[in-house]
Amino acid sequence: MNTDPNVFSNNEITVTYNPHKCINAEKCAKGLSAVFRQTVIPWINLDGAPACKIMAQVKKCPSGALQCFNKKMQVA
Ligand code: SF4
Repeated sequence: MNTDPNVFSNNEITVTYNPHKCINAEKCAKGLSAVFRQTVIPWINLDGAPACKIMAQVKKCPSGALQCFNKKMQVA
């Protein structure tokens, strides 16, 4: 169902990634390496941390390349 490689969903949240906006600051990988993985595909693993931690890290993305949506309530 999810055919867009830059959209990642689980039961709680959806994280989207826009490679055209990313400035490769690696803030996401350094901040939450179990979720934002540099050498694994798919590179975003939503099972790597609780949803609240993922949402907090997404908000720190300096370029806006990462966006996060709570399935019950839009948070970004
Ligand atoms: S934090 Fe944002 S800008 Fe930095 S590498 Fe991750 S997606 Fe790209």
